[in-house]
Amino acid sequence: MPFSSLGLSAEVSRAVTEKGYTEPTPVQRQAIPVILEGRDIMAGAQTGTGKTAGFTLPLLHRLHATVPGGGRRAVRALILTPTRELAAQVAESVQTYGRHVPLKSAVIFGGVSINPQIAALRRGVDILVATPGRLLDHVSQRTLDLSQVEILVLDEADRMLDMGFIRDIRKILALLPKKRQNLLFSATYSEEIRTLADDLLDNPALIEVARRNTTAERVSQRVHPVDAKRKRELLSFLIGSNNWRQVLVFTRTKHGANRLAEQLGRDGMTAAAIHGNKSQGARTKALADFKRNAVRVLVATDIAARGLDIDQLPHVVNFELPNVPEDYVHRIGRTGRAGNEGEAISLVCVDEHAYLRDIERLLKRELPKEIIEGFKPDPSIKAEPIVQGRNGRGGRPAGGGRNGGGNGNGRGRAPRQEAGAGRGRRGEGRSQEGARPARTGAGGQRQDGNRDGGGNGAGKSRGGRPAAERFNARPRREVPALLGGGRD
Ligand code: AMP
Repeated sequence: MPFSSLGLSAEVSRAVTEKGYTEPTPVQRQAIPVILEGRDIMAGAQTGTGKTAGFTLPLLHRLHATVPGGGRRAVRALILTPTRELAAQVAESVQTYGRHVPLKSAVIFGGVSINPQIAALRRGVDILVATPGRLLDHVSQRTLDLSQVEILVLDEADRMLDMGFIRDIRKILALLPKKRQNLLFSATYSEEIRTLADDLLDNPALIEVARRNTTAERVSQRVHPVDAKRKRELLSFLIGSNNWRQVLVFTRTKHGANRLAEQLGRDGMTAAAIHGNKSQGARTKALADFKRNAVRVLVATDIAARGLDIDQLPHVVNFELPNVPEDYVHRIGRTGRAGNEGEAISLVCVDEHAYLRDIERLLKRELPKEIIEGFKPDPSIKAEPIVQGRNGRGGRPAGGGRNGGGNGNGRGRAPRQEAGAGRGRRGEGRSQEGARPARTGAGGQRQDGNRDGGGNGAGKSRGGRPAAERFNARPRREVPALLGGGRD
């Protein structure tokens, strides 16, 4: 099915052609005609499915078709995202797809000066991309008027709830006109998402797309067993001997990411770390340097990497396996995107065998193992529990101790228990950045003040409901779809 049959305007279609897309992805095929009709949608689609164009293209079409005559510009479309990185990327897409349409867009997120944002808003903006925290800062400073919003997009709504934004979202909803079009995108459907959708959406079209099957078909996955203390050496060897130019490496902790990037630097490789403790400027720079091949290795934690859109990323390395198997799937979803071949490699030490078993159980297949010559694991080394950080209460290892993965940040985290999964103590008190938040402060307030998330979900509450209960209530539907789905 060509793009031309979707009913998009000539200006919007032209930008799509210039971008080089020939066919709409499944989410675009389903969502675009419905959004053009003006209906609300609830779409189960993850990053990598082409969802951004799926809402941006019809949004541009609709706003362009009804440009109000004269007067000052007003924010007519609001796109909310959980993280700064995603906001920046969505804003870039709005620019790209909207290049032939006379509409203005802006992006606002925390961690950077508010003044240029105020100036941009003053000049007039039709389409605003924002993270919730900074958006509310503007509202309280009266630098933003949301009374003319016609279309609201909640992108990665599940992530926004996970990061404790439900109160902010509800505050923002209260500022919008009642009559508007609502587009909700979420990778998973938890009880909370359903409740939000019930309140927000009016007779929505339900769109469910299987995540692209790149993980199953286009990404080759391999495990290299190796002793923990030799992982860094093996990583350098693999990068150097295969001459990989652009490698995304995952660690479990921020500390581990920093340390590994430094060590790789000492090995003569350009490397940068990206995680929630880095300033926004440092993160943006690291990502930009990586994209333009000035940095060869980007070391990231799970949350920091979520939503990163890096075209044609050929190599993803799990320096440490995540203790939540679904995160493995998210990680390797960074490679083989939009139809490109990719390679996902996991360096697995004896401490992580239980994690690997859980991942293989989820994938419903064994991953091929290959010992690299010279890096054969020492059979006399016995598995040690990965330390869970200061608040840890046992469970499996989490990146400290021998495996060189850092020592966690000591924050208490939510157990991501899944009913009946027999996980036992698994995941309790996890100290990884990728873990979901558990702490609830007095009155259910978030405790770390980093309101717009910025890639770090640590320490945020989700309205006072016990975290374990939330996760028990949350059916994880994304992964089977991912593994069994069609293209994109
Ligand atoms: P998203 O899910 O929005 O993060 O998009 C994932 C990637 O798919 C981005 O790199 C897009 O540029 C790319 N993409 C989106 N739509 C298409 C399309 N119709 N054909 C090819 N690539 C696309």
